[in-house]
Amino acid sequence: MASNVCVLGAGRMGSSIARTLLDRGYPTWVWNRTVAKCDPLAALGAKVAPSVEDGIRAADVVIINVLDYAASDALLKRDGIASALAGKAVVQLTSGSPRLAREEARWVEAHGAGYLDGAIMATPDFIGKPETALLYWGSRDVYKKHKPLLFALGGGTSYVGELPGQASALDTALLTQMWGGLFGALQGMAVAEAEGLDLATFRSHLSGFKPVVDAALLDLVDRTNARRFAGDDATLASLGAHYSAFQHLLEACEERGLDAAMPRAMDMIFRQALSLGRMEDDFASLAPLFR
Ligand code: NAD
Repeated sequence: MASNVCVLGAGRMGSSIARTLLDRGYPTWVWNRTVAKCDPLAALGAKVAPSVEDGIRAADVVIINVLDYAASDALLKRDGIASALAGKAVVQLTSGSPRLAREEARWVEAHGAGYLDGAIMATPDFIGKPETALLYWGSRDVYKKHKPLLFALGGGTSYVGELPGQASALDTALLTQMWGGLFGALQGMAVAEAEGLDLATFRSHLSGFKPVVDAALLDLVDRTNARRFAGDDATLASLGAHYSAFQHLLEACEERGLDAAMPRAMDMIFRQALSLGRMEDDFASLAPLFR
């Protein structure tokens, strides 16, 4: 029989989680600070909990997805709530740091509940899809017992590790790589438009270039993992070759009066390595500068 679930938080992500669970036949309770946000979910069959405590008491699995841990703490760490949690499985899907996840785990477990901390590696429209990844650490028992429910939210779900906070750490590491790409796109669009290219042209060339970028990214990780920093026959482009091309970005920013805060920060990193005479080294040789 499907577990009773309570989803605390019906924002963009919480609503998508609740919709997916309803669609898969899980009896689902929802609660949100602004109750009107629960209306569309109620129309799909969700039961609207009059209070956080009522929602928790009705459920076997409590999924939390609010803005941040401060909001989550404000919901949970109150009289009446802690006792309602005993014996439940708490799945924290609010984004947080490894430290916050560790503290939360201790608090939840001290109140007799099983705790799983998850990081959602997707936007709300991806919830419930076979390729969608959610990363978990925490109680292996909770993970095993509620695997079908967890996999209903994303077929690419995995248990990352036993060490407290590791799902949040992996989340932060992956998001860091994403922000690098998104900020890079902002800079790239500024260059393109300053030179009279429209963004549709920029966009149409992204997918053709993507396999090259993806391969370079994986190569960077593999080389860093193996500490293979010296240039060799397998080096895709030396640091010197990267830096030479990178000059064109600096020049374009200067010539067209574009903001160059980000390229200047990158320039400093390049220069640090090149001042040590590393022209022939692999791009991965920059990795130690980040530690
Ligand atoms: P949202 O702004 O749409 O929803 C935020 C929710 O938090 C709302 O339900 C709001 O009522 C609730 N909330 C805020 N402050 C509160 C408080 N003090 N007390 C009670 N409830 C409070 O945001 P979202 O996009 O749904 O994100 C929710 C969580 O999911 C965040 O931690 C976010 O980092 C994470 N997340 C979002 C995405 C995404 O693409 N949207 C992806 C991965 C993870």
